Amino acid sequence: MHELSVAQAIVESLGRHEALTGDARVVAVTVRVGALSGVVPAALRFAWGPATEGSFAAGSRLDLEEVPLAAWCPVCRAERELPAFPRRACPACGAPTSTVLRGRELEILSMEVEDSEKPSPT
Ligand SMILES: [Zn+2]
Repeated sequence: MHELSVAQAIVESLGRHEALTGDARVVAVTVRVGALSGVVPAALRFAWGPATEGSFAAGSRLDLEEVPLAAWCPVCRAERELPAFPRRACPACGAPTSTVLRGRELEILSMEVEDSEKPSPT
């Protein structure tokens, strides 16, 4: 499954983050997923459990921010949101649109880190 390797790559890059020291654990991660990124959000969510198992991110929550495909219509001279499939055409005028403005994103936006040690009452 493609999404499992994507999830593993995300976990790997999280692991390189400087906030993850000592017993720190990741409790939540937010990832931006574009409609053209090639990643199916539901599959990525499903893969998150297995990908994080036994790691610093085990049991963490995965939040996905889905970005719809947006392209530039040269006829309307406007940005149009359109379905990724099957055909790239402006929903308003039907002109073919080839300039993708948004929708290819696949990036980690943020992560929540928690130290497993109890906070000292000072
Ligand atoms: Zn148009």
